[in-house]
Parts: sequence; structure tokens; C-alpha cells
Amino acid sequence: QSNLIVENLERYIKEANMENQVQVLKTGCFGFCEKGPIVKILPDNTFYVQVKPEDVEELVKEHVIKGRRVDRLLYQDPTTSEHVEDSKHMDFYKKQQRVALRNCGFIDPDNIEEYIARDGYAALGMALSMSTQEVIDEVKKSGLRGRGGGGFPTGLKWEFASKNAADQKYVVCNADEGDPGAFMDRSILEGDPHSIVEAMAICGYAIGATKGLVYIRAEYPLAVNRLQTAIRSAREYGLLGKNILGTDFEFDIEIKFGAGAFVCGEETALIHSMEGMRGEPTTKPPFPAASGYWGKPTNVNNVETLANIPVIFLKGADWFASIGTEKSKGTKVFALAGKINNVGLIEVPMGTTLREVIYDIGGGIKDGKKFKAVQTGGPSGGCLTEEDLDTPIDFDNLIAKGSMMGSGGMIVMDEDDCMPAVAKFYLEFTEEESCGKCTPCRIGTKRLSEILSKIVSGKGTEEDLEILKELSQVIRDTALCGLGQTAPNPVLSTLNKFEDEYIAHVREKR
Ligand code: SF4
Repeated sequence: QSNLIVENLERYIKEANMENQVQVLKTGCFGFCEKGPIVKILPDNTFYVQVKPEDVEELVKEHVIKGRRVDRLLYQDPTTSEHVEDSKHMDFYKKQQRVALRNCGFIDPDNIEEYIARDGYAALGMALSMSTQEVIDEVKKSGLRGRGGGGFPTGLKWEFASKNAADQKYVVCNADEGDPGAFMDRSILEGDPHSIVEAMAICGYAIGATKGLVYIRAEYPLAVNRLQTAIRSAREYGLLGKNILGTDFEFDIEIKFGAGAFVCGEETALIHSMEGMRGEPTTKPPFPAASGYWGKPTNVNNVETLANIPVIFLKGADWFASIGTEKSKGTKVFALAGKINNVGLIEVPMGTTLREVIYDIGGGIKDGKKFKAVQTGGPSGGCLTEEDLDTPIDFDNLIAKGSMMGSGGMIVMDEDDCMPAVAKFYLEFTEEESCGKCTPCRIGTKRLSEILSKIVSGKGTEEDLEILKELSQVIRDTALCGLGQTAPNPVLSTLNKFEDEYIAHVREKR
């Protein structure tokens, strides 16, 4: 549909002989999926929503040619019923702060000059004029923590890799986004691929690496395509390759494809997969910073983490650290999905409450139903309930509440959702994605999933509930990697908060 809209825009603009005055550009995602496809007309900043190919003729004839806005295609505020022309006045955007997503929806991601026009590659120039330790110190000072789920301080990670001497080091971008319902990294790569290229080059300079690798799932063809174009353009502009920006710094990037295994988000499994082996984790230490890709020091950061790097140099570490909470700086991108009115991709300052995300940005629960729970952290996370709604979202608060930040999947459930069934859904996912290397995860997740199926179908017993708890604890304590260790979280967290539902299934056989 979007392609047809673009074709129609070009056609009607051509028919009006306005090709020299009006440019049609495809951008990355605006985030407001619920109201897509979106057409934004500049310089007026008019934001048209749910545009269909057949609406385009009117848009061009009325707005582009006559300068008259088309009210019926504008966003209608659900509380006042008023038409809202500019996205900055929409509730969906008011509480958002776009740092990692700063260029998504604003630039043509295939055009390096548009990225450069928004200060693209200026951060690389700044970094190259600093010492490598100064670059690392700036990232440390910003307080940036890994957005892939671990929350480890990024500057410290860079420092570890920089201190390990080797003839070859690597920078790896982890674009193996695998949480069900999560698409943060994909949107950044589709909407702003140069920010990742630039950040990887900055990291390469800081740690002393000349090679970068992006590990991306092959099911993201548009992201792959845009990244390939970005790498090619950066080479043409002397921003990758030898003597970058006239210095003696050399850096280039290669793309490695993953087959979409969730476990390959784990650093060691990812590295094995890139080396052409089975994507299985190994015990740490050694950490990749000491012995990673082909045994060489390797720094792995996920897409969203890297997307924050250029802006830390452009606006300063102090600016970045002024956003967020005491121990979680900056913003976080979430994929907001489930029973919520405004499904979409959002970016909020750390410390924003769940209530603000669900009600102010998300527009509340669909069909006026009652909020029941929200799963954060995907299959490794847990559910949060009504009593957690005023919790400021950050790495530590979510863990304290029995969930986790994860990579940013946020699935909202309403009063009709059955929580044991939700746990079963996530368990089936981890069972399927277990690499099978260690017994607690390979066999344990299978058994958990069987017991959950029994309970959900009304065939479970009270003894099953006890086994569920005990087995969850054993898997948590004994599995080899994070996938297995966190697999029981959805079970334990729903049992903790909705045990009555499990008991009702068991006692009433429903
Ligand atoms: Fe593989 Fe699961 Fe063991 Fe991790 S915990 S190594 S995914 S079997």
C-alpha cells in the first residue's frame, strides 16, 4: 500500500507539472503504526494518517496545489474530536523524546546527504580529533547502558575491549532482534542506517578495531538493503575505508546474516554463528572483549545502543546524562503492542511511568476494557500489573518489580486475557528457541510447556502447580545462558501475580 501511495503521489505531482517544486521522499518509520500509512507534508508539517492510495489525488489537488488542508485525513483527537494537524500536538508524541529515533521519519535513509545535513558523521569527526581514551570517557560519562537487554555500561565495555591488545579487533552490531512483537532495531536500521555505521566507526576508533560486522537476521530485507546502501555510500564519501576524514584511521563494515534464532542475540552464540558454527552460547569468561570473533577482542553492542552514540558526541555526555533516572540515562525505545489503542514504536525518557506509556501515549486499553497486565522484556521478562503503573521505567525498577527492560517489547493485556495462557505462549517460544546445548533448558522448558498446556486446558492438578514452581526455579539456577535462565520468568511472574487464575484452572478444570 505504501508503495502505491508513493507512486500516486509522484503521478499526481507530475500531472500538475510540479516535479521541480515538490519532492516525494520515502522515510523510515514515524512510529505511529496504529495510524499508518502516514504522509507528512513539509514545510507545513501537516501529518496525514491512515492514507489510502485513493486519497492521494485529493491530497495533491487540495493541499499541495491549493494549500488547503484535508481535514478528513488528519488525526482526530479521541477526547476532543478535534483535528490535529501537527504531530507534536498529538498525545502519542507529546511525552516522547526521540534520541535513538531522531532521524527516523525525517530523512531519506538511502540518501547519505540527508543524514549529513542533520549533522551526520560530525560526531565521527569529533571523535577522531580526540584521544581514544577521551572517546571512551565521553561514553562512560554519558551513563549509556546496553539497550539489548543486559543494561551493561557501554563505555566500560568499550574500555575492556580497548585494553586487550591484539593485532586485530572487531566491532559487532547485534541486529538479531528476536523478541516476539519487538521491532525497535529493525526500525532504526530501516530509518537511520548511517547512525549505526557512524557509531560503529567511532567504537572502532575507540577500541582500536579496523573491522566492523553487523549480524542481522535475513528476515529483515529492507533493513539489510538500507544498511548495504549506507555502507556503500559511506565508502564513497570517505567515511569508511582507509584514511577516514583525512586521518590514518581505517575501518570498514561487513554484513553477516543470521537465520533468526533467538539465542543468537546472546553474544557468544552470535559470534559462533558469524564464524559459521552452530549458534550456541559458551560459558563466560572469557568475555568477547578478551576473546570474541575468531578469538580476537570483540565489542558487541546492539542497534539501539549504537544509535545513541553519535548524539552523545554532538550534544555532549552531560546533555545525555541529564535525561533519565539516576542509574538509567537517556531514553528507551519500546514496541508497544497488544490490547492498546495506539500500537506503535515509542521512545521515552527513562523514568517515564508505565501509566504515561499506556494511557497518555498508548491511548489506553482497546474497546474501553480494563487494563490487566503488561509484559516487558519479552519471553525473558515478566508481567507488571495495576499496582506497578506508577513505577518509573528504568533498568533497576523493572527488575525490582519482577520484570526486566529487555530489548523493549511491551505487550499490554486486558481483562479478557488468561495469564496462564500468556505464560504458555512465552514458554512455547523459548522451548522452540532453546539451542539444546544444556539439559535444564532443553528438557526443562519442554516439561514446563507441557505442564502449562495441561493447566490451560483444564487437565492440571495442584501437584502440577508445585512442579511448575520447583522446575522453574531449577531451570533459572542451572541453565547455561540467559535464554534458559530467564525462560521461567513469565511463569514465575504470572504465578506470583495471578496465582488465583492458575488455581481456578486446576480446581474448576476450566
Ligand atoms: Fe542453549 Fe538454553 Fe542452554 Fe542457553 S540455556 S545454552 S539456549 S539450551
